[in-house]
Amino acid sequence: MSTKRAVVLLSGGLDSATVLAIAASQGYECYALSFDYGQRAVAELNAAKAVVRAFRAKEHRVFNLDLAQFGGSALTDSDIDVPDQAQEGIPVTYVPARNTIFLSLALAWAEVLHADAIFIGVNAVDYSGYPDCRPEFIAAYEQMANLATRNGVTGEPFKIETPLIDLTKAQIIQQGTQLGLDYGMTVSCYQTDDEGRACGQCDSCHLRAKGFADAGLADPTRYQ
Ligand code: ZN
Repeated sequence: MSTKRAVVLLSGGLDSATVLAIAASQGYECYALSFDYGQRAVAELNAAKAVVRAFRAKEHRVFNLDLAQFGGSALTDSDIDVPDQAQEGIPVTYVPARNTIFLSLALAWAEVLHADAIFIGVNAVDYSGYPDCRPEFIAAYEQMANLATRNGVTGEPFKIETPLIDLTKAQIIQQGTQLGLDYGMTVSCYQTDDEGRACGQCDSCHLRAKGFADAGLADPTRYQ
């Protein structure tokens, strides 16, 4: 039997780190893909590298993709402030079409690798209102991927795997902890400093802290 291969989208955050741990535990040979997309900090990419080492991914590519050329999000435009509070509707931290763009680049690599699956850490429970984190988006994307590629039409279809889709943040943390993931190396904060220390104020920090509290586990996050 040949080894199953997966491309795993890895931001260096809590969710995608858990996804890499899950894919590795399922016996996939993992190819981690991160994006340097003009984030406000380099800490996320350093976190991704640490997670790759911990779970012995076969390869790690960091793709330069400067979404700041378009802006349109608090994460890609320094003129837009990261909010302290959860907002009504789709928040300003939504990056236009981000998961479509990321999945498309993952799909291209997956096709070259003849990978069986692409893993992405989207979540529809504790998510922040992003339309590209919903199960209907993923299902439509998977269908498109298999129409759009040579592998898809010649009998090597891709699965888009979303192992976190129905989990609460606490359940995600419990699962990763069982798989030996040290969350101290992950970075969730929208405005982390270069050393990976979190602000403790943003929506992402609040969600993460609540996740550890709900899971009944000590929070290893380093704060500024
Ligand atoms: Zn923060």
